[in-house]
Amino acid sequence: MVVPYQAEPATDFSNKENKKAFQDALKQVKNDFGVQRPLVIGGRHIQTDDKTTSINPSEKSQVIGHVSKAKVEHIEEAFSAAEEAFESWSEWSPEERAELLIRAAAIIRRRKHEISALMVYEAGKPWNEADGDTNEAIDFLEYNSRSMMELAKGKPTLDREGEHNHYFYQPMGVGVTISPWNFPFAIMANTTLAPVVAGNTVLLKPSGDTPLVAYKLIEILEEAGLPKGVVNFVPGSSKDIGDYMIDHHKTHFVTFTGSKDVGKRITERAAKFQEGQNFIKRTITEMGGKDTIIVDKDADTDLAAESIVNSAFGFSGQKCSACSRAVIHEDVYDEVLKKSVKLTKKLTVGNPVDENYMGPVISQSQFDKISEYIKIGKKEGKLKAGGKTDDSKGFFIHPTVIADLDPEAVIMQEEIFGPVVGFTKAKDFDEMLRIANNTEYGLTGAVITNTREHWHLACRKFNVGNLYLNRGCTAAVVGYHPFGGFKMSGTDQKTGSPDYLLNFLEQKVVSEMF
Ligand code: GLU
Repeated sequence: MVVPYQAEPATDFSNKENKKAFQDALKQVKNDFGVQRPLVIGGRHIQTDDKTTSINPSEKSQVIGHVSKAKVEHIEEAFSAAEEAFESWSEWSPEERAELLIRAAAIIRRRKHEISALMVYEAGKPWNEADGDTNEAIDFLEYNSRSMMELAKGKPTLDREGEHNHYFYQPMGVGVTISPWNFPFAIMANTTLAPVVAGNTVLLKPSGDTPLVAYKLIEILEEAGLPKGVVNFVPGSSKDIGDYMIDHHKTHFVTFTGSKDVGKRITERAAKFQEGQNFIKRTITEMGGKDTIIVDKDADTDLAAESIVNSAFGFSGQKCSACSRAVIHEDVYDEVLKKSVKLTKKLTVGNPVDENYMGPVISQSQFDKISEYIKIGKKEGKLKAGGKTDDSKGFFIHPTVIADLDPEAVIMQEEIFGPVVGFTKAKDFDEMLRIANNTEYGLTGAVITNTREHWHLACRKFNVGNLYLNRGCTAAVVGYHPFGGFKMSGTDQKTGSPDYLLNFLEQKVVSEMF
């Protein structure tokens, strides 16, 4: 009998023992620096000559480790291994598969600080963000296991005189998971193991920026006893293997989290039929966001400033849910801007090992891209905080506030994926809603208001997948806030929802005549 799902609590780092345990973990994982991780195909560990070197974005000269890169021939082997494993894995009962995931969650819980500490180095995550990421992975495993057990019961259908009908679910086959660096453990674990608990087998290509964190999951699955070939670990470049995996005639589904451009490309490629393919591929994409917080005339301006600043700068704004636009009623615009700038200037930036609020951005290319946006922002609006960038040691960008922007400005329209938030003013609530909806994205948003009718209006008209009232627009919790967006933010298959596993299941009906 499994206990009901509950979200994993955050670690309280103000508690001395917890703090000491985390500092110990930060020391401990350093012993592994320089490690060489293999591909894992059908349970075999394969070292290749061609490797990705993973570095610390806070100290770019520091090498965390190396990971073997897969080539096309490895992908072929991985498809064969996954196909073979599917034969028996799909025959495990849903309960047996769910129990294995619950066991994996227990191992993650025991090794929590080790995983989070590695994330501090490899992804540049501050302690609390890394802890949140590991906890979210536990949540996904616990939640999806229960969800599978629930789905295993099937859904009611009507019987009639002389006829019995049964409606149930079955797994699809082999699929491909392409996971991001911004939630290198949680999203990677969910998009790999949701299909797996549903009975499918997977080829996992983790982000090239955070392959070592992803490898932790492979270790844990081995420890938990996952049969060989159910998850195949195949890091590598998009150019060498990415397209090949998507195009492959054995790929039944692709689950992808990342940029809009890559998501579009995957959707188009997966739609094309390949020789030997006798089914339609499913694509599950979670792409970008250009998320807005609306601040109404009667809003609590302290709450508004806190919500904007936390949602804009947590993990350096590198969340697709991050607030990158504040749309504020003209009566309170100056006050909210002033309070937000004051809070922003208090944030510390530096190596997250030393408990800074904000660490680096992930890579040189992201650093360069965000720096370019800051230059554009300075021309389009008024720089009120931040704007400072420094890549001499790591990829550091100070939290940046750009005010008085036109709603159509580049800074208000394009996803920056960094610590930059744009402010714009509006005359009334209708105009604020219009501005909030004027991008191609539709992922998250928040409304800070004390007018109930405005909240009701926003619920209907603010066109995003996740809308929040009187709080920030990040930090969805599995099972509480199913997460995913509309428009060019993706296919809206909500993660952490009772429906998520349906993406990886076929629905079957059996009718028997008596
Ligand atoms: N689920 C996360 C949140 O609510 C964001 C996920 C993402 O950035 O991809 O903040």
